[in-house]
Amino acid sequence: MGYGMDYKCPNCGYDVSYFLGFGKLYLDFKMTCEILSELDNLINKEDLDKILSSESFIHESDEDNYENPEYLFEHVLSVRLYECSDCEKYYPLNFFRIRSKDGEIFVPRYSCEECGRELHLKKDDVFKCPECGETMDFIGEILWD
Ligand SMILES: [Zn+2]
Ligand SMILES: [Zn+2]
Repeated sequence: MGYGMDYKCPNCGYDVSYFLGFGKLYLDFKMTCEILSELDNLINKEDLDKILSSESFIHESDEDNYENPEYLFEHVLSVRLYECSDCEKYYPLNFFRIRSKDGEIFVPRYSCEECGRELHLKKDDVFKCPECGETMDFIGEILWD
């Protein structure tokens, strides 16, 4: 299921919708799934280590208990909102986690198109207008299957 969030600037009238969850980006999501399951089948441990230690991934510490040593990839995917705290730009991007056989967790690393800095998952609901910098008003949420 996906959802969209609509925001409008009270100052200059700029409006924007962010589509998250699955919904519209489903194809992209499906492709990511396929890539992951392909990796699952084809890649040996050393190749995987190389990929996961590259710039494309962030190593997250794992707080869950690791239960199944045979389960290499955790296909937890959805579109989440990332932000660049310097440019105050927002990016809806695929979020997923890969769990290695050693129980380590990796998540994708994204960088800002403008400044190249690392993006972070957006934690709050405050959006600044890209045109004038005013805090935007939340207009509504759209849900779909
Ligand atoms: Zn504005
Ligand atoms: Zn930036």
